[in-house]
Amino acid sequence: MSQPLIGAHMSIAGGLHLAFERGASVGCSTIQIFTKNNNQWYAKPLTDEEIRLFKSSQKIFKIKPVAAHTAYLINLCASNQDILEKSRLAFTEELRRCEMLGIPYLIFHPGAHTGAGESEGIKKIIESLNLAHDQTKNFKVKSVLETTAGQGSSIGYRFEQLRKIIDGVDNPERMKVCIDTSHIFAAGYDIRNEIVYRKTMTEFNNIVGIKKLAVIHCNDSKKELGSRVDRHEHIGKGTIGKEAFRLIMQDKRLVKIPKILETPKGADLAEDKMNLAVLRKLANKSKLPISD
Ligand code: ZN
Ligand code: MN
Ligand code: MN
Repeated sequence: MSQPLIGAHMSIAGGLHLAFERGASVGCSTIQIFTKNNNQWYAKPLTDEEIRLFKSSQKIFKIKPVAAHTAYLINLCASNQDILEKSRLAFTEELRRCEMLGIPYLIFHPGAHTGAGESEGIKKIIESLNLAHDQTKNFKVKSVLETTAGQGSSIGYRFEQLRKIIDGVDNPERMKVCIDTSHIFAAGYDIRNEIVYRKTMTEFNNIVGIKKLAVIHCNDSKKELGSRVDRHEHIGKGTIGKEAFRLIMQDKRLVKIPKILETPKGADLAEDKMNLAVLRKLANKSKLPISD
C-alpha cells in the first residue's frame, strides 16, 4: 500500500528550512507553513541563502508539495481602506515569497466584509486578486481560496461564494480551493457518514469542481454542524468523528490531494504524530473504497 500524502502545519521558528526537519520527524510527506511571521504585515525580503537552504532541505526530507498559508491579518475585502491596502500589498508579497521558494499553493481566507454585505465583499476580493495577479504575471503559485466556517462576516462558507470569486477574476486559472473539514462542517456541510459525505462532495464537485481542489485541511471540530464557529479538534475526538476522515482517506479522487492537519499541538509535536497515525490507519482500514 502506498503511503498517503499527509502532513501538518509546521513552525518556521529559527528558519524557514527547519519546517522540513520538523515535518519529517513526525512522518509528514507534505507540510504547510507560514512564509513569514503570521502576526505581522511585512517581512524582510528573503535572502538567496534562505531560498537555497529551503530548497535543499525540501529535497533532503522529500516533502512535496509544500503549501503556504497567508498571515491572519490579511483581509482582501476590508471596509477600512488602510487595512485593505495593507492586505493587498501583503498578499502580493506573500505570492512573491512563495514563487521564490518554489511553493505551489498560497492558501488564504477569502475575507470578512465587516458589514458591507456579501456581494460587496466578493466584488472587493475579486478586485484584490486581480491587482495581485497583475503584479505577479506568469507566476506558477496558485491563489488558494479556503472554505470558511462563516464566523462573523467572513465569506467562503458556501461553495457558491468560492465559485463567484473564481468566475469573477480575470485569470481563473490562477485560482484553486482548499477544503477545511472543520470549517465546512461548522458551515453546515455534513460529512459524518457515507451518504452525507457523498452528498457534500457531489455538491462541491458540481459547484466548484474537484479539479479546482488543491489541498484538504483535515481537522475535527469542537463545535456542532452549522454552528458557524471555527474550533479545531484532534481527528476522531470532535463532533465530526473518524468515519468522515476514513471516507476522505479512501476517496480515490483525493489520493493526490495533500491532506494537512491544523490540530492543536505542543512543542514536541506528539499530537501531530498521534493524528497522523490515525489518518494512516483510516487510509488502510478495510471497507470498500468509494469512488464517486
Ligand atoms: Zn486557514
Ligand atoms: Mn484551515
Ligand atoms: Mn480554522
